[in-house]
Amino acid sequence: MDFDYDLFVIGGGSGGVRAARLAATEGNARVALAEEYRYGGTCVIRGCVPKKLMVFASGYGEMMEDARAYGWDVEAGDFDWQVFRPRLHAELDRLEGIYRNILKSNGVETFDARAELIDAHTIKLSTGQTVTAKHILLATGGHPFTPDIEGAEHTITSNDIFLLDELPKSILIVGGGFIACEFACILHGLGVQVTQYYRGEMILRGFDFESASHIAAAMQERGIDLRLRTNATTIKKVDGGLSVTDTDGRETMFEKVMFATGRKPNTSDMGLENAGVTLGKGGQVEVDDYSQSSVPTIYAVGDVTNRINLTPVAIREGAAFVETVFKDNPTPVDHHLVPSAVFTQPELGTIGMSEEDARDEGPIEVYETRFKGMQSAFAGREDKVYMKLIVSKADRRVLGCHIVADHAGELIQLAGIAVKMGATKEDFDRTVAVHPTMSEELVTMKTPVRET
Ligand code: NDP
Repeated sequence: MDFDYDLFVIGGGSGGVRAARLAATEGNARVALAEEYRYGGTCVIRGCVPKKLMVFASGYGEMMEDARAYGWDVEAGDFDWQVFRPRLHAELDRLEGIYRNILKSNGVETFDARAELIDAHTIKLSTGQTVTAKHILLATGGHPFTPDIEGAEHTITSNDIFLLDELPKSILIVGGGFIACEFACILHGLGVQVTQYYRGEMILRGFDFESASHIAAAMQERGIDLRLRTNATTIKKVDGGLSVTDTDGRETMFEKVMFATGRKPNTSDMGLENAGVTLGKGGQVEVDDYSQSSVPTIYAVGDVTNRINLTPVAIREGAAFVETVFKDNPTPVDHHLVPSAVFTQPELGTIGMSEEDARDEGPIEVYETRFKGMQSAFAGREDKVYMKLIVSKADRRVLGCHIVADHAGELIQLAGIAVKMGATKEDFDRTVAVHPTMSEELVTMKTPVRET
């Protein structure tokens, strides 16, 4: 049978665009891609990129305070969202243009349209066109999930934060994951009075507990009102803002309430059932190690599969899909030992197992260090750096590395190479320290603090 395209990609985010480009260039495929909103997807338009620019913006206040301690005659003044916002959006427009150009210059035909599946090879576009493809790649990402509580319609999510006309004076952030913690820190740094409710015992569940506790303490110390074992139960719109009742029965007023309570895959109203694509309980497309769905011609990459919801992982999945389908080189995606960073203040950089998970796997040694970094100590900041290595007693491999420090995201990328290569504690130890740095502590931790 003759198809219009060899590959039709639905979704112009990180995973979809990478797969489309590689299939067209390296796989010599005839490729088309449909995007219903903006090219670049969550990462570029309402995720990693604008978030990181806001992380940078929010860090300057503290930096200027530090600068004064170093002898500079500067005043932080106030942050002006009206100056930052248009610059932010101009940058996002620029990046979106780059994404469109990548597709165009690599011969990928694009449709600014919503796509729905008719069957395993046929796609209907919101422009009215119907096209066919030998393979279809679902790369539709996800969207924020807000629990169905009374008054939830008055709240915002991370999608809205970049579009606010003005920053609120006060905000309640509900949730304890990546997004909640990052935005609590960002908004606090920009001068917003931040309260955060997290229903569990400690924020950043699933991460190393002590590392997460260290961040929680730093957030509280900076002035974020972080309330653990607390959730919002009802929200009422009142004069001047929102009145939130929490699980302790307290009522508190906030100008805005943001839910950062997880994300759900974008799989509704896409005709997936027409094609026979199997979805999991959370609505994600179920795929095998090669990102193939239950329908052999349909693959899926990125957040829509809810494996590890990180941009670089989606990109790897997209590239592996092209190797498998268009380059005759079946390539499973390697989801093992993926480093990541939480851009709180201070940041958390992490790779491998938390102490809690490692304990269940076998005997381990735990090495850790806490110290005041030279730069912030001189400036009179209370911040402490925290580093932890988890080492297998059986083969001495470093199973987990966790860093809480300024720039921990940068540090963990490099430590991650060693851990991914299977470095042992002794490999770390025989690497000479780079002095004076924070990260030299990673190679100078001599005695385990715990063994289990
Ligand atoms: P997460 O899954 O990280 O966190 C969701 C949070 O919401 C958890 O604390 C969860 O609590 C809480 N929660 C869920 N349901 C409810 C509810 N009904 N009431 C109250 N609290 C609730 O999701 P995020 O939205 O923060 O981020 C989504 C994903 O995006 C991340 O997992 C990550 O993969 C990616 N991301 C990565 C970033 C990075 O790399 N720096 C930055 C931002 C996002 P509990 O723990 O109790 O379940």
